[in-house]
Amino acid sequence: MDKDNHQDNQKEEIMEQESKHSQKDKKKNDPYERVCCICHRSESRVPDMLDMPNGESICTDCIKKTVDPILNGQIDFNSILSKLPNIGMIQFVGPGMDIQQKNRPKKKEAEKEAQPPATFAERRKNLPAPHKIKAMLDEYVVGQEQAKKIMSVAVYNHYKRVYTAPQDDVEIEKSNMLMVGPTGSGKTYMVKTLAKLLDVPLAIADATSLTEAGYIGDDIESVITKLLAAADNDVEKAEHGIVFIDEIDKIARKTTTSHRDVSGESVQQGMLKLLEGAEIEVPVGANSKNAMVPLATVNTQNILFICGGAFPQLEEIIKERLIQKTSIGFQAELKDQFEKKNLLRQVTAEDLRKFGMIPEFLGRLPVVFSLDPLDEEMLVRVLREPKNAILKQYQKLLELDEVRLLFDDDAYAAIAKKAIEKEMGARGLRSVIEAFMLDIMYEIPKDDNIGTVVITADYINGTGNCRIIPRGC
Ligand code: ADP
Repeated sequence: MDKDNHQDNQKEEIMEQESKHSQKDKKKNDPYERVCCICHRSESRVPDMLDMPNGESICTDCIKKTVDPILNGQIDFNSILSKLPNIGMIQFVGPGMDIQQKNRPKKKEAEKEAQPPATFAERRKNLPAPHKIKAMLDEYVVGQEQAKKIMSVAVYNHYKRVYTAPQDDVEIEKSNMLMVGPTGSGKTYMVKTLAKLLDVPLAIADATSLTEAGYIGDDIESVITKLLAAADNDVEKAEHGIVFIDEIDKIARKTTTSHRDVSGESVQQGMLKLLEGAEIEVPVGANSKNAMVPLATVNTQNILFICGGAFPQLEEIIKERLIQKTSIGFQAELKDQFEKKNLLRQVTAEDLRKFGMIPEFLGRLPVVFSLDPLDEEMLVRVLREPKNAILKQYQKLLELDEVRLLFDDDAYAAIAKKAIEKEMGARGLRSVIEAFMLDIMYEIPKDDNIGTVVITADYINGTGNCRIIPRGC
């Protein structure tokens, strides 16, 4: 009998040990940080974490805060006991406060054992040189040669700086950028392409939706929340990501004779510390901070900020400056300089300050450059050349139905002309194409005999039909 009991006890001990081991392994292999079920801070932000038998974790800070007053006699323990049925563990955690895996920040790379992260030296070595970054951009972005060149160098310098241990003697400045270019000239597209090529997370925000904390709209720090989400809640990845803030011209300081609108100016002020580098506490897996959501701290020092805007009427400011510099006799010779496209290329921080951007803000965006408006020839190239050009996408789609889609040369020009009328740059192309492609996509699958469809300029202009070539011809 005694022997049986002894064996049972041994079995139980072994099972307990095994369960402890498997829990330890689970914890080690879990790529996400544990989160305190009381204060909702993640484990990297607390001194230590204690695992509870119900699977939750409590940080030592919260335990101390609860236990200290009891030990010091500040709270009558019996009164707590009498209330316990109501504030048991389940009540603490509460419905809806169960922290899902997706809402927990990922552990920092250093804490992961399975796969050692690439060292900074390795990452620096793998960083493509500026000419290679530009060559990659060339595959997707038509024209904008100067902008692509400036961007490639700035991005290269930025990541070289990020992947280099801080040096004592010379501190390399951050290469945050400000892009000036009309709607549909490829500002967003260039940043998106860049982030994809470099395989870094990207968050895109609209400056018009940003407000100071406490006002209706997204507060400024929400862009970092977006970036963390794009980085799959991996704080380290987010800290090397890119944030693109569009429509930045809409937060320019506005002065009219009657009153001064300071709302834009204060958003610019609010962005300063973000651009420069600050520790920002952001909610994980949610859009707003509240008691239910775990928080993560993201340092923005190595995040590349790119701002973009159309800056209407900026040309006038540039022109004014150039005229002041030029004696009247020379003006005729400098006509070229005053062409709309060439004017934007000469933009300086001083012009942007006159437009209404505050000097402190401009000071934190040292790389300023412009994008050219797309003319007819460039729009035709946008239709034909990029790796993922929209017409190539439609051709691929019809190919799946074994139908060839071809375009006459003057059909391309007709599409570009229609897009120019819309004054939306390359954005206009999509709406022109979608309008005529709808009919094609609707009609073609009706007839199995159609082998090729040739889009003509007349068809685009609504004065004729496309040419249909039957299968086998
Ligand atoms: P914006 O300058 O207003 O940010 P976008 O970058 O959003 O313009 O451009 C809209 C679309 O037009 C892009 O998604 C892209 O398909 C196309 N596009 C714009 N400019 C170019 C360009 N230079 N080369 C190729 N495609 C372009």
